[in-house]
Amino acid sequence: MSPQGGLHAFPEPVDRLVRELERLPGIGRRTATRLAFHILKDDGGHSQSLADAIRDVKEQVSCCSTCYQLTDVDPCRLCSDPKRDASTVLVIEQPGDLMTFEATGMYRGIYHVLAGRIDPLAGIGPDDLTVQSFLDRVDDPARNARGIRIEEVILGLNPNLEGDSTTLYLAEALEQRDVRVTRLARGLPSGSQLEFANTAIIADALHGRQGLAGSGDSSA
Ligand SMILES: [Zn+2]
Repeated sequence: MSPQGGLHAFPEPVDRLVRELERLPGIGRRTATRLAFHILKDDGGHSQSLADAIRDVKEQVSCCSTCYQLTDVDPCRLCSDPKRDASTVLVIEQPGDLMTFEATGMYRGIYHVLAGRIDPLAGIGPDDLTVQSFLDRVDDPARNARGIRIEEVILGLNPNLEGDSTTLYLAEALEQRDVRVTRLARGLPSGSQLEFANTAIIADALHGRQGLAGSGDSSA
């Protein structure tokens, strides 16, 4: 039973593990096979702790019912933290973007995770995202963290085509609402992804955010 064998099939459980690993993003057949054999050879308990971690993450982690970031308590620790400014909400695409902004250490507001972006070519519209929950938070303080009214919305989507059309959609939806709307400053290269930008650029983009929807410039 050698990973280099190739011609004869592995035992069924090994085959199954390879197929499951191969379904992960960025993992091809070769890597999946290498990982499967690493797990198979392990006798230090790592494979068991890996299996436990996978089970626990599915059982214990869910989305915050207010901001939709990943959390093991609801509301999440940011939404319930009295030191965070719950009147300022930064709208982002994915939970991973939250880490990007938190890494700057300069943002004191809270978040709203859209769980994607509007992408008509991929058939993704506002109803496939958490847009309505977000507008409910703006309209009704009881739906926002700690019952506090939202005064500023910062649109922190990726500076690419889909991010820009999502920003436009939200700006229009917010136009008639009594809330200041800003977007990140244009220091980010067009077409880039926030998660790959460095901390200083993100901090600048946040600090220099600009008014939208006739809401005037922000005093960040
Ligand atoms: Zn939350």
